[in-house]
Amino acid sequence: MSSLETDVVIVGAGPVGLMCAFLGRLRGMRTLVVDKSSSPLQVGRADALNARTLQLLEVVGLFDALYPLGKPCNTSSVWADGKFVSRQSTWWDALEGCFHKHFLMLGQAFVEQLLDAKLRAMDAGVRRNTRVSDIAVTDTGCFTTLSTGETVKSKFVIGADGSRSFVRELLGVGFEVTRPQIVWAVVDGVIATDFVKVPEIIVFQADTSDVAWIPREGDIDRFYVRMDSKEFSFEEVVAKINRAMRPHALRFDEVKWFSHFSVKESVAERYAVHDRVFLAGDACHIHSVNGGQGLNTGLADAFNLMWKLDMVESHGAPVALARTYEEERKPVAMSVVATSGELTRSTKFSASGTHAEDYVKIVERRAGNITGMGVCYGEHPLHGRRLFDFALEAGRVYSALDYRFFTLLVFGDAEPSFAPPAFVKVVQVPDAKSTPYDGLALLVRPDAYIASSSSLEDMTAIATYLAASASASARERTSK
Ligand SMILES: Cc1cc2nc3c(=O)[nH]c(=O)nc-3n(C[C@H](O)[C@H](O)[C@H](O)COP(=O)(O)OP(=O)(O)OC[C@H]3O[C@@H](n4cnc5c(N)ncnc54)[C@H](O)[C@@H]3O)c2cc1C
Repeated sequence: MSSLETDVVIVGAGPVGLMCAFLGRLRGMRTLVVDKSSSPLQVGRADALNARTLQLLEVVGLFDALYPLGKPCNTSSVWADGKFVSRQSTWWDALEGCFHKHFLMLGQAFVEQLLDAKLRAMDAGVRRNTRVSDIAVTDTGCFTTLSTGETVKSKFVIGADGSRSFVRELLGVGFEVTRPQIVWAVVDGVIATDFVKVPEIIVFQADTSDVAWIPREGDIDRFYVRMDSKEFSFEEVVAKINRAMRPHALRFDEVKWFSHFSVKESVAERYAVHDRVFLAGDACHIHSVNGGQGLNTGLADAFNLMWKLDMVESHGAPVALARTYEEERKPVAMSVVATSGELTRSTKFSASGTHAEDYVKIVERRAGNITGMGVCYGEHPLHGRRLFDFALEAGRVYSALDYRFFTLLVFGDAEPSFAPPAFVKVVQVPDAKSTPYDGLALLVRPDAYIASSSSLEDMTAIATYLAASASASARERTSK
């Protein structure tokens, strides 16, 4: 059988594997994505992109294609017995350094189909109807066996193969699953109702809060209905919706997707093995869908990982840089599991019988996860924090970022006091009064977190950070 060679083999062409491949290709890496399925997702599964994901999509030029397809939503309200109880959006309104302070309600299928098409256009289309059946890691690289009998040699392998990850199991990575015995039905469809349709997430308080109404793109609406048993019919789901909405009534004129999921919670013991095989997305964290964090957290994994692998591979960065992927992303996953766990349990248990209101209060308290904007790496007041977005004379700072590069932002008229390496793009912001960064130079990572900072007069700290990040003798691929 033939053997192939590439930089990164990606197992799984869900949204996370596809994004890993797209980001890798942007940076000039050779990628091979393998998936057992015959096509990208057509309907169902995740339903919302959060504000941080929207910023990251902008950095890689995908925002304009996706944003017009979705529906912005920044409000959660509570209804009981047909009466309005409360409405909140403070956690979105209060976000600083961000121009899209809302969820974009948009099905996962749109994200997958766009990325799938982009990869084909980059001559890196997904190898479909193909499974990975073995991976061997040696001193010289990874050897992945495909169901076609081919062996692919690569520097890295990424297991983005979902919650039942074959890669995770093959490598013996622990993944102890908690099952809180909560089962949700999900219905996407075209509805008819006498309840006024608003672009808000509505949580209904009946006996408990077991029904949530989620606005979606186009003419679709989604309902999550807690059933607490795996055996139920579509009619029982619709009856529960009608009980929660009473005295209003609802019917589905068209059902686009009807599914269920049992809540399972886990974070993988390790995200990397032998510094060569990495796990991303559902392969290393699973949790309830409450809070809409699965897809968003997985996409953020991809943004965190791919530039690090390329820096190690192409710019002589120490392997320790790739290890920071697990150091940074595993605590985020644990916090996401805690958030969605608290949310899903609150729909069933409430000391005061105010489940729906409790739910929205948890959203408010845990907004950093749900908006994605509270994620930071470390305790430093600047380093490891997301870069705030703000208007430039032309455009905005996020449109000036480029995933292929670190960005050296100079807030003032000073010139960099050192010659930046080719993987750094310099952006001068002369009129910086309206930014929180006036008088500073900031080194921004490809994933839009601040790596280092200095005064304009003395940029030694940034130069030192860069010198430690890459070897001068390394190949300079991003400079082409
Ligand atoms: C029924 C269901 C409903 C959901 N609903 C929601 C929701 O309402 N809201 C929300 O936020 N999230 C929801 N999610 C979660 C969300 O869909 C996931 O977080 C997201 O898909 C994770 O993406 P991923 O790329 O990590 O994994 P996946 O999307 O699972 O992709 C993994 C890919 O790996 C492939 N694969 C697996 N094993 C192999 C192998 N050995 N060889 C080759 N290919 C392989 C699979 O075919 C698949 O394409 C839902 C998930 C499910 C299953």
